[in-house]
Amino acid sequence: MQTQPNVVIVGGGAGGMEIATKLGHKLGRKGKAKVTLVDCADSHVWKPLLHEVATGALDVGIDALNYRSHAAAHGYHFQQGAMTDIDRQQRQVILAPIFDDAGRELLPARHIDYDYLVIAIGSIANDFRIPGVREHCEFLDSTEEAMAIRKRLLNKFMRYASQEQLEDKIKIAVVGAGATGVEMSAEMHHAVEQLRGFGYKIDTSLLEVTLIEADDRILPKVEKPGISESVTRELEKLGVNVMTNTRITQVDSNSLTTSEGVELPADMVIWSTGVKAPDFLKNIGGLESNNINQVMVKQNMQTTLDERIFSIGDCAACPQADGSFVPPRGQSARQMALMTADNIMLMIDGQAPRHEYVYKDLGSLVNLSRFHTVGNLMSFIGGGVLVEGKIARFVYTSLYRRHLIELHGVVRGTLLMLAKGISRIIHPHLKLH
Ligand SMILES: Cc1cc2nc3c(=O)[nH]c(=O)nc-3n(C[C@H](O)[C@H](O)[C@H](O)COP(=O)(O)OP(=O)(O)OC[C@H]3O[C@@H](n4cnc5c(N)ncnc54)[C@H](O)[C@@H]3O)c2cc1C
Repeated sequence: MQTQPNVVIVGGGAGGMEIATKLGHKLGRKGKAKVTLVDCADSHVWKPLLHEVATGALDVGIDALNYRSHAAAHGYHFQQGAMTDIDRQQRQVILAPIFDDAGRELLPARHIDYDYLVIAIGSIANDFRIPGVREHCEFLDSTEEAMAIRKRLLNKFMRYASQEQLEDKIKIAVVGAGATGVEMSAEMHHAVEQLRGFGYKIDTSLLEVTLIEADDRILPKVEKPGISESVTRELEKLGVNVMTNTRITQVDSNSLTTSEGVELPADMVIWSTGVKAPDFLKNIGGLESNNINQVMVKQNMQTTLDERIFSIGDCAACPQADGSFVPPRGQSARQMALMTADNIMLMIDGQAPRHEYVYKDLGSLVNLSRFHTVGNLMSFIGGGVLVEGKIARFVYTSLYRRHLIELHGVVRGTLLMLAKGISRIIHPHLKLH
């Protein structure tokens, strides 16, 4: 009897979940392959929503998708565990042991056999080895980190609101004014407005958010400077202090220091200055990687040195014609995932993986919480078309809608979107615990 090939996908994020679902449907359910998804977490939260988790605008209890139940319904298997290494000779993925909260070992280190492997473990914030960043900053790399930020923010607001005499403002610095930093800055103002509605003795005038960017404008990667200007105006209207041309060289427990030697006080620092792949990916299993640890791939997403191993999404270095790499974005992770699934199916059928990935920038939209949405669409045509307001908000949420439809099908995906909308109406607009 012919054995089924093992397809293992490590990382169930924006890209990994879509590839596991597609291969589960096309191969797993038909008995053509055993498809296994591995993730260090037990449930999936779509990463572009993490800033909403951090401010409490999104309740993980409602929005998280349990991997096991999704796997059972969609023809693939799930194994919880963090990949630490790959043995390419034995074709095995090595997983770290799992411990409970008290430090007792629940599962020992394990290995999983693969015939085809997809590495889709995403990225982490790049600290550029700046002193104090790892020790004193908050990051938005995972659901746990986003929830930790929420808890710290709520604690600060609670302590603040209980004071008779207010000493000073709550000072929050957000370093890095890409989409994540910009969205987080606006979302914090929204959170404070909501808390006031719930009886907290606090308002936005007591919150001092400073958005710090080394470049000469915020959103430096967005092609149209007009968008940066429009977003700066909106943020300043909210009371966000926007500082450009400011490079942070050190972070301490209560302050940041700029390259000019200026000390900026901060009760909390959120670090969002771009990403890198996790350090352990550097040359993992002898594979090639670039200077930010991304695994080097060809345009069909096969790694440059091993045709059985693919890498997609933020942790993959996929070359473009101009010598740069495909940017780490939800839209590119998704497009790579669906195409890589097709290539793996071809290989299992004994054919060459013929699909090649060319990144088409469909646009960048920035959502300033409920205050404003702005961006450009179809950036691949002459810099794109500027959109604002409700149309922009609709397009912004369409990436998430497409993700849900990919994971659940059209009917269930649409119903889920509706259910989440209703839940937002009937539950408090902010998670308070
Ligand atoms: C706040 C925020 C807002 C964003 N907004 C947008 C946006 O509006 N539009 C857009 O296009 N992009 C946006 N992005 C970027 C987008 O989220 C990422 O580009 C996208 O999620 C990358 O997908 P991925 O599948 O490569 O990785 P991820 O979605 O990050 O998934 C990685 C998965 O791997 C798992 N994992 C990590 N390490 C291991 C390990 N060692 N072993 C096993 N599993 C592991 C993680 O638990 C996770 O489930 C945003 C990002 C953030 C943080």
